[in-house]
Amino acid sequence: MPTPTTLRTRLRNALAPLLAATLAATLAAGLAACQPTEDTQTDDTVQIVASTGMLADAANAIAGEHATVYALMGPGIDPHLYAPTRDDAQRMLDADTIIYNGHLLEGRLTDSIQRARDAGKPVLAAVETLPTSRLLAADEEDKQFDPHVWMDPAIWIDVVQTVRDHLINTDPDHADAYAANADAYLARLRELDEYAQQVLATVPENQRILITAHDAFNYFGERYGFQVRGIQGLSTESEAGVQDIENLVDLIVDNNVAAIFVESTVSDSNINALISGARARGHTVTIGGELYSDAMGNPGTYEGTYIGMIDHNATLIAQALGGQAPPAGMQGKLAAQTE
Ligand code: ZN
Repeated sequence: MPTPTTLRTRLRNALAPLLAATLAATLAAGLAACQPTEDTQTDDTVQIVASTGMLADAANAIAGEHATVYALMGPGIDPHLYAPTRDDAQRMLDADTIIYNGHLLEGRLTDSIQRARDAGKPVLAAVETLPTSRLLAADEEDKQFDPHVWMDPAIWIDVVQTVRDHLINTDPDHADAYAANADAYLARLRELDEYAQQVLATVPENQRILITAHDAFNYFGERYGFQVRGIQGLSTESEAGVQDIENLVDLIVDNNVAAIFVESTVSDSNINALISGARARGHTVTIGGELYSDAMGNPGTYEGTYIGMIDHNATLIAQALGGQAPPAGMQGKLAAQTE
């Protein structure tokens, strides 16, 4: 028979989780009750959580002072592999709205996004709103689509318009400001697209082959007339095989490709395998520089904006593949290239 003490202890142990849960619920309710007062005192802006920097950039440009935008994925973060932290999950539940890319770019965010949806949060899968006729297929069989649409500013313009409409629905009081800000941003995106067309058209036609670490540039290639090959597939979750590397070495040697590119979010090891493979066949191919593929550059820099990211990529590709582009890019704002 247990003594009264151990019985009490057992009872306490059994009840402890229940008590803790009740306490937490009471605390949470108390905090929630405080929230509106704190909000009006310190921050009455719309709280937006965006998955990628590119979407956060659009939301920031459109909402301006009326919103606080938090990007879950910073520079150098690979969205294919990114798993949300506990803080991220909480941020998503606390936000007024969540904007993400979709088409499986952020595969490991799926559960957190679903939880936010279940909690009644307005969620926008920005790229999934595009008609599929605008998208490139990822795989004929299972009807998936290539998610990397930001690489074509002309398509990204449609995505930005979707973000604008979503923000106006979320915060109709500031509809006029959002519409005006979006117009200004969209005009700059059109300039960006024109600039990219101009500089990339200077690359000799037989040099318009873009080889990168993974398949992020298909939309870019479609828009600007480049054959695009990534060593890894559409998602960095798949590994490149020996045969993939050999096929690409053939392509490089046969077409006398001068430069291939590393990416800010993917390891360089496969790119280095291509360089040594080509060298073994007597062909010298260099690294043309680092492209921003699935994330922008550092916050506070020009390359840390969507326009700076694409300007950097277009300028670097044009220069490395025998074309001409202003050394500091479209607006004279690009940092000096180290390559
Ligand atoms: Zn990618």
